[in-house]
Amino acid sequence: MEPRVLQPVNDQNTSENAGTPKKKELTLANFDIGKPLGKGKFGNVYLAREKTSKFIVALKVLFKSQLQNSGVEHQLRREIEIQSHLQHENILRMYQWFHDKKRIFLVLEFAAKGELYKILQREKRFDEKTTAKYVYQLANALKYCHSKKVIHRDIKPENLLISLIGDLKIADFGCSPAVQWGQRTTLCGTLDYLPPEMIEGSFHDENVDLWSLGVLCYELLVGNPPFETESNSETYRRITRVDIRYPSYLLRHDPRKRISPDAVMTHHWIVANHTPKDPPRH
Ligand code: AMP
Repeated sequence: MEPRVLQPVNDQNTSENAGTPKKKELTLANFDIGKPLGKGKFGNVYLAREKTSKFIVALKVLFKSQLQNSGVEHQLRREIEIQSHLQHENILRMYQWFHDKKRIFLVLEFAAKGELYKILQREKRFDEKTTAKYVYQLANALKYCHSKKVIHRDIKPENLLISLIGDLKIADFGCSPAVQWGQRTTLCGTLDYLPPEMIEGSFHDENVDLWSLGVLCYELLVGNPPFETESNSETYRRITRVDIRYPSYLLRHDPRKRISPDAVMTHHWIVANHTPKDPPRH
């Protein structure tokens, strides 16, 4: 893999280089490494500070040998390609990446409050205000992704991080090749969040993310996902039948009947519970 500089790590916080995207090759020596933030499948994530700019980031360290053994180098390459080109307040920024002989380092935006999944475990469920905020912000990020022809396909609390000021950030694009709509039909998501069309192996498009948004909204309010059962086959059955008694414009079997991200953001329940910093313009 050739080293490539996607964006200067200190592009945001020095007046010196403001507006001039000066590209420089980074190495591990550029960083002071802090506490571990978490453990992933292929390596660890550390708090880190770029020495010159003092810019705080999360440094994700992936071992090449593990990536090779699992045959996921291609997937990682795509993930880097996608995430580094998405710039939205509710999508975790990937500033740069670099590598040495054994490892690949991803320089990521630091999300101080960590995984939404862990916060939910701690709090059990959220009130309507908090849920409406997260659903609004996720709809906003999905609207942006879909406008760039990127389907996430794996929206779930484990893949959502929360910043210091409590904003939601989509963090993981490992399942979302930027493909023509409907090209891929492989199962990628977690069972509880999978839409009927993916379970049934039929055509699917960006509307899969809107189903998952509906599942997330339910789980944040109630404390567990709507189709959860003891067995996978029973969960499959409940999803395909949309076996749920709960008013939802997102949990619709027909993907075309799910409301759009825009309609989510202006839905009366969202509007009644959340006032965005930058209201949507129409
Ligand atoms: P991952 O390998 O992406 O699953 O990351 C492992 C764990 O590290 C996650 O569950 C988070 O708790 C933590 N983590 C990953 N990325 C970040 C980040 N950008 N900011 C803060 N914590 C993170």
